[in-house]
Amino acid sequence: MQNTTCEKCGLAWTDPDMLIEPIRRMAASWVPAGRNVNAMKVMTAESPLNLHDAKAIAVHITQEPGACHECSYLLTGEATDHCPFCQAVNYDW
Ligand SMILES: [Zn+2]
Ligand SMILES: [Zn+2]
Repeated sequence: MQNTTCEKCGLAWTDPDMLIEPIRRMAASWVPAGRNVNAMKVMTAESPLNLHDAKAIAVHITQEPGACHECSYLLTGEATDHCPFCQAVNYDW
């Protein structure tokens, strides 16, 4: 498993590339509602990710599709993206 480091906040965690599409969608659906804990449960139940990973991933999921979770800058449309403005990792799931 690979590691991801966010240039913006300095957090490091395990890359969630093993998460299948339905799990990503389910996790991402909780985040805009402020239910990061539910998103973390979905991810840790279905993958080798631990709580630290899941927590870091949850805060890097976009609140609004296509917009950086950190600065709202427009992303490029990749599922895993780096904000062109602030360099934050974004999971646009
Ligand atoms: Zn970050
Ligand atoms: Zn940004």
